[in-house]
Amino acid sequence: MEKIELKGIGVSPGVISGKVFLLTGERFSIPKREISEGEVAEELARFEKALAQTTEEVVQIRKKVAKEIDEEHAHILDAHLLVLEDILLIEETMKRVEKEKLNVEYLFSRVLENLAEKFEAMDDAYLKGRAADVRDVGRRVLRNLLGREHRDLSSLEEEVIVVAYDLSPSDTAAMHREKVIAFVTDVGGKTSHTAIMARALEIPAVVALRDVTAKVKRGDRIIVDGTNGMVIINPDEETLKKYEAEEDELEVIERKLEEFKDLAGQTLDGHRLELAANLEMPEEIPSILAHGAEGIGLYRTEFFYLNRTDLPTEDEHYQAYKFVAEKMAPHSAIIRTLDLGGDKFLSQLQTPREMNPFLGWRAIRFCLERPDIFKTQLRAILRASVHGKLKIMYPLISGVEELRRANQILKEVREELRAKAVAFDENLEVGAMIETPSAAMTADILAREVDFFSIGTNDLIQYSLAIDRVNEKIGYLYEPAHPAVLRLIKSIVEAGHRQRIWVGMCGEMAAEPIFAIILLGMGLDELSMSAVAIPKIKKIIRAVTMKEARRLVKEILTLSTAREIEQRVREKLAKVAPDVLTQLAGGQ
Ligand code: PEP
Ligand code: MG
Repeated sequence: MEKIELKGIGVSPGVISGKVFLLTGERFSIPKREISEGEVAEELARFEKALAQTTEEVVQIRKKVAKEIDEEHAHILDAHLLVLEDILLIEETMKRVEKEKLNVEYLFSRVLENLAEKFEAMDDAYLKGRAADVRDVGRRVLRNLLGREHRDLSSLEEEVIVVAYDLSPSDTAAMHREKVIAFVTDVGGKTSHTAIMARALEIPAVVALRDVTAKVKRGDRIIVDGTNGMVIINPDEETLKKYEAEEDELEVIERKLEEFKDLAGQTLDGHRLELAANLEMPEEIPSILAHGAEGIGLYRTEFFYLNRTDLPTEDEHYQAYKFVAEKMAPHSAIIRTLDLGGDKFLSQLQTPREMNPFLGWRAIRFCLERPDIFKTQLRAILRASVHGKLKIMYPLISGVEELRRANQILKEVREELRAKAVAFDENLEVGAMIETPSAAMTADILAREVDFFSIGTNDLIQYSLAIDRVNEKIGYLYEPAHPAVLRLIKSIVEAGHRQRIWVGMCGEMAAEPIFAIILLGMGLDELSMSAVAIPKIKKIIRAVTMKEARRLVKEILTLSTAREIEQRVREKLAKVAPDVLTQLAGGQ
């Protein structure tokens, strides 16, 4: 088997080798490959086998529908069976394989799309609707041809590396945690959902590999090097040995870093910086505490709404937040209110498809229009606040009116609870995420309405540099060290401090070792990150003085490009924490 090396973006460190589990979604890459005359018969046999397999699948589903719903609904699947018997579709594909000498999945997908488009162009509504049947059943055939698994990660029986076009929040939420040892995807960037989840699960991940789903088969052995952004398909013995040695080395480094986990994030001259963790699922709390987190700086509650057909009840919310409050006490936990939209969708809300979801009806914009959903969550957070130290934070604030409306709703909820004599923490802090350029530019105005800010750099960078954070083609433009981004961060911190509120950061930038000294020097009060990153950041903070950090900020703000800035910061890091820099080699 041929060894193939692919370079992508390493988004979660570590090295591991294992077997491929190829996950299908709505989208996957179809490989195109020339075949020899001798391979034609084999190719046609594969096609016939996939058709038979698909027919069997559809027959089974039809039976299930007839039994569990009724015969009338089962008729819908008859349309799928008809597609599978469509002589034109089958014969045309076979003829083209013989004539064009290309692999069958490629030609079948072309013939299929052609047929679907013809149906789509018809005036008759019934015939038009058949385009969806053609595509739907066609995807099943392609899945069987490509040997892909159905989109279900919940019942894995052995350890696997998940290879997918992309992973949706519902995939990762349903996933069997112990069995998935790495993620590899075609698309994505450092701040896409897949990346954030991989770091939360502490497994290596490489994204933005473009067409890795077309290059691997189920069961292939691959190496995932999340530190250097490499994936090696079918490695030889020598490569495997080399990477195994690297895996051991990384483990030794991680163990050494453990000595920092229980120390404070304090500079040599005594300045404290709070180091907190980001949380996606409450089950992560033991690992978060084990890495020395001093609180939770961002609890992404949208995960709580996933993989269910209804909305969580107030009591379900309450139980989850009570659990977090109790487990984290005496530390605080910042609960971010529902941030749906962007790359996180909830099927039960049936929100419309949008051209620009990141610029659309998301986060606080959605909550303000659905006060019923918003109030349920706010009530539960307030009720749970008596069990520890909770704080509330609103996502994607873009102006003060929005912030006032959110606060007004919160005030109503507080009054309702008081009227019913339900206890809650009267001093609970409320903050705004600063993740839009408009919020950053009006931070002085917003600061009068809240107790704290948390800078969401994942979105702030995407919006200020006009770069889709999940589009791998422009990933190279995603620059946290861009002077525009650094100026914005500095002015947000200053605006907050002038108003005497504290300012934190919970975007992925907070976890990147090369930015730690700059963020410290800019005066951030708290950094919240994936827990794995905490010991490393503590180590850096403990190796500098606040004075040095401030001086470095002054200096880099005179530079013109992200590259120059990063270069200068690396030089500094090489002096104060050379071993951290060595670990970053190639990675970031
Ligand atoms: C951010 O935008 O930086 C952030 C922390 O929020 P999310 O990544 O969930 O959008
Ligand atoms: Mg955000």
